[in-house]
Amino acid sequence: MDIRQDFADAVGRTPLIRLRRASELTGCDVFAKCEFANPGGSIKDRTALGLLLDAEKAGALRPGGTIVEGTAGNTGIGLALLGASRGYRTIITMPNTQSREKIDALRVTGAEVHLVPAVPYANPGHYAHVARRMTEELNERTPGSAWFANQFDNTANRDFHEATTGPEIFVQTAGRIDGFVCSTGTGGTLAGVGRYLKANKPGVCVALADPAGSALANYVNTGELKAEGGSITEGIGSSRVTANFKDAPINLAWSIADAESLPLVHALLAEEGLNVGGSSGVNVAGAIRLARELGKGHTIVTLLADAGTRYQAKLFNPEFLRSKDLPVPEWLARAFPQ
Ligand code: PMP
Repeated sequence: MDIRQDFADAVGRTPLIRLRRASELTGCDVFAKCEFANPGGSIKDRTALGLLLDAEKAGALRPGGTIVEGTAGNTGIGLALLGASRGYRTIITMPNTQSREKIDALRVTGAEVHLVPAVPYANPGHYAHVARRMTEELNERTPGSAWFANQFDNTANRDFHEATTGPEIFVQTAGRIDGFVCSTGTGGTLAGVGRYLKANKPGVCVALADPAGSALANYVNTGELKAEGGSITEGIGSSRVTANFKDAPINLAWSIADAESLPLVHALLAEEGLNVGGSSGVNVAGAIRLARELGKGHTIVTLLADAGTRYQAKLFNPEFLRSKDLPVPEWLARAFPQ
């Protein structure tokens, strides 16, 4: 029998799939790790599990305790489902700009969801600060009752990717990987996978695909935290260097516009049957750029972080796309006539 024991045991060991179009376009083998296949539907199930196991071990999260986290949604979904599976209550703070689908997915887990205005990190009303304060208040009332997961600056996030995502990619490519690229939110994935790959094959090129509106590509290239433009992608991009991102070994970084990434999201669905979210489009755009940079015959790996169904009303809604001046593929316009 090949049985996973519970939610936690079903996290990870995701398939690596060949991206046909990206491979044909570049003459490289472009592979993507199907992180939407995690039991909570995204790469952030790994983050949630890594943070939670670390907190259980340290005694920071006690039996029957409360998990508190600020999230763009996916980490919250992972934590809330793990909470359901292991007997914890979950409280989530989230910017009110995130997709209805993610908010609903959180609500049905039984998590207590607090939507807050999307404000810069320096503002005390930022969702991460609100989550931290809620944890402190709970612990003042009942000491030791609540745990703040703190995905951005708790490096158990990065460490879990270094211990799972990185080795899985290395084994699945039989060590043939030449380049790894992805976008970052907390930086946990890129830093953890990057560190593992560099330690095991120092020549691997690690690249950041950063959405427009994020300051990180500029930071890597010039040392200046400067953002330009904006993006409809969710869960990625940053205006600051988090503890998880800080030591990521990055060789190359690009800023990717929605006009470049979104057609890839649509083509992945129409031509390869892969229904993925906006960050995956940025990742695949980065994989194509990295493949061109390294030249034909190389093996490039990226990630498909979550499913497009989590953003149905935006990414696959012609009216929404037109309102943002983004291209609408003909098949999508036909599927949803005006
Ligand atoms: N893609 C999606 C859809 C996400 O939700 C996130 C995390 N918020 C990421 C990518 C980025 O992953 P990380 O936090 O490990 O940088």
